[in-house]
Amino acid sequence: MAYSFELGPIRPPSEAYSLLVRVTRNCPWNRCKFCRTYKGEKFQLRSVEEIKQDIKTAKLIQDEIKELSWKSGYGGKVKEITGMMLNNPPNEAFYNVALWLYAGGESAFLQDANSLVMRTSELAEVIRFLKETFPSIKRITSYARSKTAARKKLEELIELREAGLSRLHLGLESGYDPLLQYMDKGVTAAEHIKGGRNVVESGISLSEYVILGLGGKGMRREHAIQTARVLNEIAPDFIRVRTLTINNRMSLYDEVENGDFIQATDEEIVDEEKLLIEHLECHSNYVSDHISNLLQEIEGKLPQDKGRMLASIDRFQALPPEERTNFRIGRRFGIYNHLDDLFDLHRRQAVEKIIHRFGQGSNQVDDKTIYTLMEGFI
Ligand code: SF4
Repeated sequence: MAYSFELGPIRPPSEAYSLLVRVTRNCPWNRCKFCRTYKGEKFQLRSVEEIKQDIKTAKLIQDEIKELSWKSGYGGKVKEITGMMLNNPPNEAFYNVALWLYAGGESAFLQDANSLVMRTSELAEVIRFLKETFPSIKRITSYARSKTAARKKLEELIELREAGLSRLHLGLESGYDPLLQYMDKGVTAAEHIKGGRNVVESGISLSEYVILGLGGKGMRREHAIQTARVLNEIAPDFIRVRTLTINNRMSLYDEVENGDFIQATDEEIVDEEKLLIEHLECHSNYVSDHISNLLQEIEGKLPQDKGRMLASIDRFQALPPEERTNFRIGRRFGIYNHLDDLFDLHRRQAVEKIIHRFGQGSNQVDDKTIYTLMEGFI
């Protein structure tokens, strides 16, 4: 039970049950001001042999779990065995394989930040090997940078799709050039469009990530409108939003401290999201799958659900100020999930206790306390 293989630090929320295969280490760019994931870590390619060895080790772990299932009288079925193992796994790799098998063993995620920097032929070889080793895998996804996707030839992306790459997750963050430059994203709106279109045209499913609040107070309007413009041109399968959260391991933190970047308030960010959705004209799934988002219920298929999504924003904005504050605090303390939770007596009482505790006599909790709580979301 001591088998292990290498794992990277993150994967998208939608890949929580995927087998993780680390094909490169860290981020080749590593300069975005709002990102701390790979800070201080050096980017490295991994050899195909090394990656294949990890895949073989994952297979050994799978085989061991299946053998245990037979020995325990479960006839090779893994659900019960993996369920028990998740409580006390011998190491992280074992936990990942157990969780993946528990969920059905159908998806894999290639780590870290930009798998497309690998030579196309080598990445395709890894993907093929992964599928041969685990025929149960139906979906293989990865993170990539738009700039790298823009540089790949369409034939190369098609080769990857044919090898088995199902989806790419690209960090668009914003479609507004001055903001991309300010954040040192290392990509322009035009490159975002080129990279995104390349992926769409190759037939690989595309998720584009947008950071609400990234423009702070100063650029929020342009951020919303230009991001919508770029997304309309790309027409990704998924638009995934998360909200800017800053901590002291990001270089953006220094900009906040020296007053150069002024964070938008939650209410301004809701206004920004409204503007973004109003300007979206593409056919995409809009997904809010991150705890950092205030209004997580704003999800749907565009364009048909646009009216309903905007109505949720209107509903929040029409609340009396003290109700908006109450919701905001409840949401940031993890008590509320949806606006309807405002009418749940138990949740409401829990929020009122918090307001009493942190509010020091007022019906407010200061922004600093809320921002500190949000740091725990990343
Ligand atoms: S490209 Fe992605 S992983 Fe790399 S620094 Fe920027 S946000 Fe972070």
